[in-house]
Amino acid sequence: MMRISLVALAISAALASGCETTTQQGTVGVDRKQTMLVSEQEVEASAQKQYSQMMAEAQKKGALDKDAAQVQRVKAITSRLIPQTAVFRPDAQKWAWEVHVLSVSEVNAWCMPGGKMAMYTGLIEKLQATDDELAAVMGHEISHALREHSREAISRQMATQTAIGIAGALFGGGQLGQSLGNMVADVTLNLPNSRTNEQEADRIGVELAARAGYNPQAAIGLWQKMAKLSGAGQPPKWLSTHPSHEDRINDLQVYAQKVMPLYTAAKAGPNAGK
Ligand SMILES: [Zn+2]
Repeated sequence: MMRISLVALAISAALASGCETTTQQGTVGVDRKQTMLVSEQEVEASAQKQYSQMMAEAQKKGALDKDAAQVQRVKAITSRLIPQTAVFRPDAQKWAWEVHVLSVSEVNAWCMPGGKMAMYTGLIEKLQATDDELAAVMGHEISHALREHSREAISRQMATQTAIGIAGALFGGGQLGQSLGNMVADVTLNLPNSRTNEQEADRIGVELAARAGYNPQAAIGLWQKMAKLSGAGQPPKWLSTHPSHEDRINDLQVYAQKVMPLYTAAKAGPNAGK
């Protein structure tokens, strides 16, 4: 018991102080301190494993990268976004980035820790998404991964579990590895992000898109399209993990405007028209 209460004490001290931030500020200036109780390497290794399993499963069902043109389109967009992540964290250039298109009617897309992405055909087709809008979606997803919101959420879950006295299960060795994979998938694919996380992903997302030469204003239209689908009785799965908040559109308008010069510069640059 002594050990558990010491661990709990250390965790509450860490939570109270906040000890690191995962990204540099860029133009949009996100700088919130984050508390992490599990290593980046452990989370990424678990994500990688989960991702491989999910893609193998999709392949078995005949739902992996079915439409070559669609796959090429999504890859073209993510391959323009990925180099821009260096502004926020140079180490992300070394991530094993990967993207696949899954034939699933759900309106959804995600990016796991370490850059493992998926785009669902439901999102592309039901939203009739333009390239700028797909860049807005993936820019937002990539930003969650850059900020390591999943690792943060796992850390919070670990702290809560410790506080209610089941620390033994988490800190008892082998079980941590076992449950971590499920936790990574759960926090990335199923649990709603906080309003703070959403705002960070929105702001960094528009900067990534702008720097890649995609119109950052498209993020606004994207959320409006999502809301419209919701109103028509087809609530996008994406909205359950990325809950909307009332001033999202206002905030996006401010930040999309702020990064417009980056977009203009990118359009005038060597990649213009590509
Ligand atoms: Zn989000």
